[in-house]
Amino acid sequence: MSELDDLLRNNREWADRIKQEDPGFFERLSKQQSPRYLWIGCSDSRVPANQILGLDPGEVFVHRNVANLVVHSDLNCLSTIQFAVDVLKVEHILIVGHYGCGGIQASMTGRRVGLVDNWLRHVGDVFGKHAERLHKVGTEALRLARLCELNVIEQVANVCHTTVIQDAWSRGQAVSVHGWCYSLSDGRVRELGMDVAAPEDLQPAYDRALASMPVSGKRDE
Ligand code: ZN
Repeated sequence: MSELDDLLRNNREWADRIKQEDPGFFERLSKQQSPRYLWIGCSDSRVPANQILGLDPGEVFVHRNVANLVVHSDLNCLSTIQFAVDVLKVEHILIVGHYGCGGIQASMTGRRVGLVDNWLRHVGDVFGKHAERLHKVGTEALRLARLCELNVIEQVANVCHTTVIQDAWSRGQAVSVHGWCYSLSDGRVRELGMDVAAPEDLQPAYDRALASMPVSGKRDE
């Protein structure tokens, strides 16, 4: 059990350190959370929302699943979005994919992993929708990068199509949805030009994001 003992000791030290720096921190947070952001990202252990954004506990509401998918019938993800938008009143929803995503790669190569293959069929659908574009990409590594980006762009569209966001916009609530892709190799986030703040923004943003996507080279690297 020594590994878990290490974790518990880490926790005590972390809590003590925070309390020393800001004595009212935990008391304040225990009463209320008011994050401005909802992060929907991959479960990958290398893509932690708070650290990447430099945010403290209480500042970002988080939903993660394999390959950062927003599936129209996934009550888990939809409930998170609903709570974040209707109750917490987040202002920004960030869909954050990452380059080198194992889930996206497994889907692209057809490698069988197990039950998760069924979940990753949603990524297969994204590949199918953009097959013509993806087949023009020269190398497998770049094709994977493009599919990671396309997957994010499609998930942004999926969020925008939910009744939760549609209803929020129709009552004039300010909430916008953004597509990002995180690079494991340098720790930096790439914006994909997929930023939507109103129903009429969706199609133009989608068209712009696809038009600005490089076919061969890497993105601003
Ligand atoms: Zn991933």
